[in-house]
Amino acid sequence: MITAVASVRAMASYALAELGDGAALSLAQNESLRAPSPQALAAGQVALAASHLYPDPDWTDLRHAIAAVHPVAPAHVLCGAGSMELIGCLVRAFAGPGDDVLGTQYGYAFLSTAAQQAGATYVAAPEADYRVDIRALLSAVTPATRLICVCNPGNPTGTRVPNSDILWLRDALPDDILLLVDQAYAEFDDQDHAAIFRLVDRGNTVVTRTLSKAYGLAGARVGWGAMPPAIGAELRKLLNPNNIALASQAMATAAMKDQAYMRDTVALTADIRERFAARLRSAGYDVPDSATNFVLIPLKDSETAKRADSALLQAGYILRGMGGYGLPHCLRATIVSEPAMTAVADILEGFA
Ligand SMILES: *Cc1c(COP(=O)(O)O)cnc(C)c1O
Repeated sequence: MITAVASVRAMASYALAELGDGAALSLAQNESLRAPSPQALAAGQVALAASHLYPDPDWTDLRHAIAAVHPVAPAHVLCGAGSMELIGCLVRAFAGPGDDVLGTQYGYAFLSTAAQQAGATYVAAPEADYRVDIRALLSAVTPATRLICVCNPGNPTGTRVPNSDILWLRDALPDDILLLVDQAYAEFDDQDHAAIFRLVDRGNTVVTRTLSKAYGLAGARVGWGAMPPAIGAELRKLLNPNNIALASQAMATAAMKDQAYMRDTVALTADIRERFAARLRSAGYDVPDSATNFVLIPLKDSETAKRADSALLQAGYILRGMGGYGLPHCLRATIVSEPAMTAVADILEGFA
C-alpha cells in the first residue's frame, strides 16, 4: 500500500467554508463587497495577453507599488500566492518537529494547519472577551516556542488590539522568537501601523498583508510580507518560483496604485457594517466591535446558532459557522450589500 508520511496522515484537510450550490449568496469568506478597481481589471486584461510568458519572479513592479504606499523598503517585501503561502512557508522555515508555534484562541485557523504541515506543535493562548490578550500570549511562551502569530485585527472575532500591545509584546519577547503580525484586515483598522512595520528593522518580526480583502482581489491570490532580509532569504527557498500569475501581479500593482478605490471600499464596508451591527445590538445581540469586513455574531447557544444558520441558508445566505474555531454558538457574517445585510438582520432578529 502507498502511504503518506505519518505527520500528513495525522492531519485533517483544511476546512474551507461550505459554499452550497452557487444559488445562495456567500457571506462566508470575507471577500470584498465590491469588484476590483477598474484600473486593476484593465491592467489584468493587458497582462492576460502576455500570458505565454512567465511572470516576474521578483514581483518588481508590485514591490515598488507597495513601498510607495507603506513605510517598507522594496527589498524587504516578499510576495505570495495569497498571504497564506507566505504564512505557510514562514512556519515551515522556522519551526519543525519539537517546536511550538504559538497563536491565540480564536486566531486564524490556517496557522494550526501550517504548524502541522511543518511537523511542529500548535499552541493557542487564551483570549478574553473575543479579544487577543497580549499578556496571556506572553505567558504561554515556553523554551519550545519558535514563532508567535498575532492576527490584528483578528479573524474570526473582528476585534483589534492597539498596536502598542504588539510593540509591548515584541519588547518582552526573547530576540530568538519570530513574531508574525498578520494584518490581513489592517486597511479596515484606522490606527497608525508605521510602528508595526518598523519592527521589521529589528530583524525578528514579519508583517503580512493581503490583496484579498480590502482590495477585492481574493480570486487573484496575492499577498505580501515585510520582513528582515535574512528571514526573507530562508522563506524564499520554500516559495514556488514564479508563484504569482502575470495577470495577478498586474492587477495587484494597479490596485495598490489606486488607493482611492480601496479607501472607498473600506468606508462603504464600515458604513454598512456599523448599521448591521447596530441593528443586531438593538435586537439584543452582543456583537463585538469589528475593525474588519465581517462581524462575529454570538447567539444564545450552539443550537440556536445552528437553527439561525439553516434559516439563513433557506433564505439564500451562507454565513460561516464557527464550530471549527471553538465558537459553536457564533456565526460570522461577511459584510456584503446593504439590502442583503438588512435581509440577514431581519432573519437574525427572530433568533435573538
Ligand atoms: C483572509 C486572511 C488571510 C489571507 O488570505 P490570502 O487570501 O491567502 O491572502 C490571512 N490571514 C487572515 C486572518 C485572513 O482572514
